[in-house]
Amino acid sequence: MRPKVWRPAVEPSAAEQVIIRRVRRAKLFVFLRAHRHELFDEAFQAELAGLYVDASHGQPPVPPAQLALALVVQAYQGVSDDEVIEATVMDRRWQLVLDCLDAEHPPFAKGTLVGFRARLIEAGLDRRLVERTVELAAATGGFGSRALRAALDSSPLWGAGRVEDTLNLMGHALRKALGVLARQQGRGLTDLAGIAAQAGTPMVGSSSLKAALDLDWDDPVARDHALGLVLAAVDAVAAFVAAQPDADPNAAASVAVAHQVRDQDVDLAAGDAGASPTLRRGVAKDRRISVEDGQMRHGRKSRSTLIDGYKRHVLTDLDSGLIPAVGVTAANAPEASVTGQISDDLAAQQARLAELHIDRAYLSSELVRERADDLAIYCKAWQVRNGPSHAPRFAKPAFRLDFERGELTCPNQVVMAFRLGGTVHFPAQTCTACPLRERCTTSTKGRSVHIHPDERLLAELRQRQLTPHGRAKLRERVAVEHTLAHVGQWQGRRARYIGIRKNLFDLRRVAVVHNLHVIARQPADQRAA
Ligand code: SF4
Repeated sequence: MRPKVWRPAVEPSAAEQVIIRRVRRAKLFVFLRAHRHELFDEAFQAELAGLYVDASHGQPPVPPAQLALALVVQAYQGVSDDEVIEATVMDRRWQLVLDCLDAEHPPFAKGTLVGFRARLIEAGLDRRLVERTVELAAATGGFGSRALRAALDSSPLWGAGRVEDTLNLMGHALRKALGVLARQQGRGLTDLAGIAAQAGTPMVGSSSLKAALDLDWDDPVARDHALGLVLAAVDAVAAFVAAQPDADPNAAASVAVAHQVRDQDVDLAAGDAGASPTLRRGVAKDRRISVEDGQMRHGRKSRSTLIDGYKRHVLTDLDSGLIPAVGVTAANAPEASVTGQISDDLAAQQARLAELHIDRAYLSSELVRERADDLAIYCKAWQVRNGPSHAPRFAKPAFRLDFERGELTCPNQVVMAFRLGGTVHFPAQTCTACPLRERCTTSTKGRSVHIHPDERLLAELRQRQLTPHGRAKLRERVAVEHTLAHVGQWQGRRARYIGIRKNLFDLRRVAVVHNLHVIARQPADQRAA
C-alpha cells in the first residue's frame, strides 16, 4: 500500500511554541519545524511514495517524509539508528520536528527506518534530498537560479572497517567463513573452535590468529613459517566450505576474500621455485585492506596525510555557500575520477557552471577536459622549470605560443609549428648556432618543448596568477575548505557506513544539513521575499 501524504500542522501549537522558545543551540530543529512542509512538499512526497509498491492490502507505510526527516536529523545529531528511535519518545526537539509530541511509542520501528534508507539509496532519491534544499533556497529568496561559480575540493574520510595486516586479514576472513557455517548449522559462534577443528585448522577458531600461532614475530624465519601455516589454513577452509552441501554463499564469499588477500599480498611463485612463499614487498595496486569493507583503500591526501578508506568531495557554490553536488571515492582513486558524480548531480539540477575553482589534482578531470567554452577554470598553475636550480635555463613560458596560428616562437625568434599533445623539436643545427644556446639547452639534438593537450588552459593559468586580480580569484577557493570543515564536523572523520554508496548517502544528507543551515542564516525578510 502506498503511504498517504504527510500533512502535519504548519502553524505551531501553544505547546510547540514553548519548545521552540526553549531551544537555545540546536536551531535546526526549529528551522525544520517551520519549513518541513516546504522541504517535503506534496510533489516531493509523491516521489518518495513511489518507493513503495501500490498494493490494496497491508498496513499503510509510515509517511516517507517523516522517515526522511528523521534521517536528516540523525545526520545533524550524529546518532545511531537505536538512538533515533529513543529520541522520538525522549527528546521533545525530535518530537517537534517529527510531529509526535508527547508520544509514548515511537512513530516508527528501527526496521522501518533501516528499510526506508535502503529504498532511498536504491532509488537514488538521496540525491533529490540535496536538490530539494537547493530548490528551497531558490524558492525562499536570496539564491536565484544562475550559472554557478563553484569550488571543488576533498577531505579524508577514514573507513569504518578494521584495517589489518595480511595474516590477520586472511585469518579474519577464514573465521568469518566458518562463523557463517556454524550459524547455519545452529551451532552458534561459541562453537567456532569446534568447527575450525573439524575443518582441520584449529588455529582459525582462536580469536587472535597471531596469538594462536605464538611465534617470535621479529624472526624472519618464524614469519615465513607462519605465512606457510596460514596459507595451509586458507586451503583447508576453502576445501571444507566447498565440501558442505547447501553451504550459505556468504561462507564462499568470505573464502574468496581470503584468496583475494593471498593473491594480492603473497608471492606464491617463490613456492613453485622450491622456496617458501613470501610476503610481497610494497603495496599491491588497489590492495584490499579490510575484511568488512572491501572498498576501503590506502591512499593519501597529501605527501604527509595517509588515509585508510575514502575521500569525500564537495562542490560549493561560492556565492550562496550551498553544496549542490558531492562525491565519494576510494582513497587511492585520483581526485579527477570524482567529477563524473559531480557532473551527474549538476545535470540532475540542470545547473550550469560559469567558474570552477579547483586544485591541480582535478585538472585532468572530465569536468575540465570537456568543459564548455564559457566555463572559466581557476587553479594554481604548475611551476615550470628547466635546468638545475643554480643555473636555470629558459622554461616553457619563455617561448611564445600562438594558438590561432599553431606556432611556437623561441627566445631567439625561431618559429616552429606545434600541435596540442605533441613535442616541438627545434633543429639541432639552428640551436648549435644560436647565441642563446647556453641559456636554453645542453642537448646536442637541439631544444625540445612538449605541448600539453590543454596547453591553452595551462598558459592561461600561468598568465592569470601574475596579476593581483588573478591571485585574488585563486584565493576564493578557500571557501570550499571552510565548507569541508563544516561537513567534517557533522559527518566526523570516520565513515559511519561500509562501502562507497552508503557513505555517499551519508555525505548527501550532511550536505542537506549544511544547506539548511545556509538557508536558515539568510535574514528572514529575504527568505520570505
Ligand atoms: S637554443 Fe634553439 S630553441 Fe633555444 S633559443 Fe636558441 S634557437 Fe631557440
